Amino acid sequence: MSECFKYWHVRSLYELEVTDAIDHVPGCELEFVINICCFPNTGSWRKPSLTERRVRLACGVHPVAVNEGYNLDELKDMVKSDLCVGIGECGYDISSLDKTDKDIDPDAQFNVFEEQVKLAVNNGKTLMIHCRPAVNMLAGFCHLYRDAFSLIKSECPESQHIVWHCYLGSVDLMEELSEGYPNTYFGVHPISLDFVKYPWMRETIPKIPWDKLLLETDSPYCVIQPDRNKCAPTMLPVFAIQVAPLLCIPSKVLLYVASQNAKQAFHMDE
Ligand SMILES: [Zn+2]
Repeated sequence: MSECFKYWHVRSLYELEVTDAIDHVPGCELEFVINICCFPNTGSWRKPSLTERRVRLACGVHPVAVNEGYNLDELKDMVKSDLCVGIGECGYDISSLDKTDKDIDPDAQFNVFEEQVKLAVNNGKTLMIHCRPAVNMLAGFCHLYRDAFSLIKSECPESQHIVWHCYLGSVDLMEELSEGYPNTYFGVHPISLDFVKYPWMRETIPKIPWDKLLLETDSPYCVIQPDRNKCAPTMLPVFAIQVAPLLCIPSKVLLYVASQNAKQAFHMDE
């Protein structure tokens, strides 16, 4: 029996997608999903997910949602559940700075990120970091990742578990971000395979330490099968088939390893 791990953003079709993800994953037995609830205003901060034990939660305030208004006490309440295994996605996102219709406030992002880092430390939860620079250049990612890491270093003990979600940095930076934090993981995401925009990822992905690599579908935000314009939590095995050749391993081995790593990353192996 193989196991399957997926990150999963939830929106309005929540109930339907839970059933779909858990009972109809082709060719693999789904052990758990991580439902990422980081947009307070889309209704994803909801309790029903707590009724299905194979669905674990990461709860937080996404950096692009910091100005939308949210109740920190509600977040603190969600974090108390033992099914909540992570805080996030949180971090910095200035990718819309150049667009006039977006109201990006880097200071507000810093403050909300800091709150969430403290929440993770105080509750023993994994931190899930999202960083998107203004321009999709390696230097921009380096800058933001370093900013996020210095906040982490100022608040977190070295035992802190950290997931760099949708990691889009270099090999060197990966080593830098792991320094002093042995429980640091890097998510390979559908966007990571966009070698036109992120050519350096061709080198980075195979260099992610074997025991630190996670797979993410990030459904419904990323298309996994471009020819069919499809994206779903059930498509992790399809995504693994795309990633595996870069690592020169069979996709089923990759799914198994990523699943084991995820259990460690999110304290589910204890
Ligand atoms: Zn993200």
